[in-house]
Amino acid sequence: MKAEERVVIVGGGLAGLRAGERLRELGFNGELMILSAEKHKPYHRPALSKEVITGELTPRELGFKISDEMEATWRLGVPAESLDTGRRVVGLPGGEEVRYDGLIIATGVESRHMPGAPRQDERVHVLRTVDDAVAIRNSIASTQGLVVVIGGGLIGCEIAASVRGMGRDVAIINRSDTLLGGATGKEIGDFVTDTHRAKGTRLALGVKILHWMRQANGIAIHLSDGQVLFAAVVILAVGSVPSVSWLRGSGLVLEDGLMCETSCHVVGGSDVVACGDVARWPNLRFGGVQRRVEHWLNAVEMGRAAAENLLVGRESSRPYTPVPRFWTEQYGMRIQGAGLASLATDTTTLSQPTGDHRTITGFVKDGKLVAMVALDSPGALIRLSPQLFQQNTVTRPSREDTLTQHIQRRDQAAQPVAEQPVAPPPAPRAHPVMQPMRSAPPRYEQPRYEPAPETQQYPQYADPVAEYQPELEDQEQERELEAAMAEAFLPRRTQAPSVRTRSGGQPRLLVRSGGGGGRSSARPPR
Ligand code: FAD
Repeated sequence: MKAEERVVIVGGGLAGLRAGERLRELGFNGELMILSAEKHKPYHRPALSKEVITGELTPRELGFKISDEMEATWRLGVPAESLDTGRRVVGLPGGEEVRYDGLIIATGVESRHMPGAPRQDERVHVLRTVDDAVAIRNSIASTQGLVVVIGGGLIGCEIAASVRGMGRDVAIINRSDTLLGGATGKEIGDFVTDTHRAKGTRLALGVKILHWMRQANGIAIHLSDGQVLFAAVVILAVGSVPSVSWLRGSGLVLEDGLMCETSCHVVGGSDVVACGDVARWPNLRFGGVQRRVEHWLNAVEMGRAAAENLLVGRESSRPYTPVPRFWTEQYGMRIQGAGLASLATDTTTLSQPTGDHRTITGFVKDGKLVAMVALDSPGALIRLSPQLFQQNTVTRPSREDTLTQHIQRRDQAAQPVAEQPVAPPPAPRAHPVMQPMRSAPPRYEQPRYEPAPETQQYPQYADPVAEYQPELEDQEQERELEAAMAEAFLPRRTQAPSVRTRSGGQPRLLVRSGGGGGRSSARPPR
């Protein structure tokens, strides 16, 4: 891309904003246009399930600071409807078309709907946007009975805790027996479950919804264990789906999100990158596993990485290889995670829980730590997280993998099909001309995605790291925990990086095989 051309960003959320800022930081002085389906400029979505529902924050207080120096044309309430990558135009309502030289796709996700749920009923809500949060708040304020949250994942649990904190009766309906299980591992999941119960939340766990019945004074929800919950307000928190419907027919590859290369360039597109919740890409730090990451910090980091790689072009791009991180807060508990827990086959308790239940669970695969989730141990997690970078080094794909990807890309680009069916990625095909490599493919390590040196000074925008690092409350306890974990866990310098036990291979750590929350079937953390 040349610096004086036009970049269009589709999606005015966090990833789109950070991508636009990064373009300007790097000296892009062409035209910048941001199209957003929402009528609001980007705002802090995590507060919706926490402070906005409780009324501690008003919607006006959520907006990100946007520097005038970004000099973007914002088109709010204007959803992109189509994309023609050949003509390089984005289609808008009313037949309008916007031409681009470079395109950044950051359309995020939308709430998943639940088959059978009476979505048209004004007492039934989802939570993705600030408008959703305001509607939920109004609904809660204008009723008195039970608030039922469907789904015991991160957002469902946060909503329940917020509503309970307002003194309302709350119930969570969840298909599995433990809240948060997949995202945090069983130990922390069990603790969170007990905490919700102790705070007075009704838990209907391990059940399915058989039937809904709308009545004038509430909605009756019939459960598979025979219970009937009578709800004044229902909030569906059953996951999300990528916002890609506008890309149908574009020829881009839509498989649980928008398929990207390691550099955030979109498969099948030219001068098109994607970032944030919508983007699915192979993270070379974790064996090239293709996945989406629905975390706030990923939107920030991937937005910046995508902008950089768009500017330098595909050939000079660097792979985007983060260690994903997330946090959640419920009833004052702070849970933070780093890595890809869903890859793990075992979990290991990195420290015995102390009286106040501080603990860190490690997620292990092939003797390597692939993720950690910490309960009320923010400092220790942050200090230990370099382990995840060290133990999960970025590995260049083998020649065969590269060639296979190239062929797949070429094939996919050649077939402008509508939407690909949601299916696991195809197994690599053997290519007839491939010869076995004589030696192992070269390995290289890139510290993590470090932005290129800045070309000019720009005002400081919100600092994601500060957002992620709550201040330490009890420094001494943090240090003790960290020391105990370092002794038990950190690899010795002379040994290959892997999970270590304290005494010569005799596991002091509690490693659970099977049944633990870290099994590969577990849902990934957001
Ligand atoms: P979004 O923020 O969703 O932005 C995408 C934007 O694109 C939206 O404005 C959308 O309207 C727009 N758009 C969609 N389609 C089109 C179209 N066709 N044309 C134009 N615009 C379009 N993460 C954490 O790590 N910790 C948390 O505690 C946490 N809490 C959360 C709580 C809630 C209630 C929610 C909803 C999310 C939470 N997250 C949390 C996740 C985090 O907020 C997201 O990962 C992040 O906002 C993703 O940013 P994004 O820019 O990719 O997508």
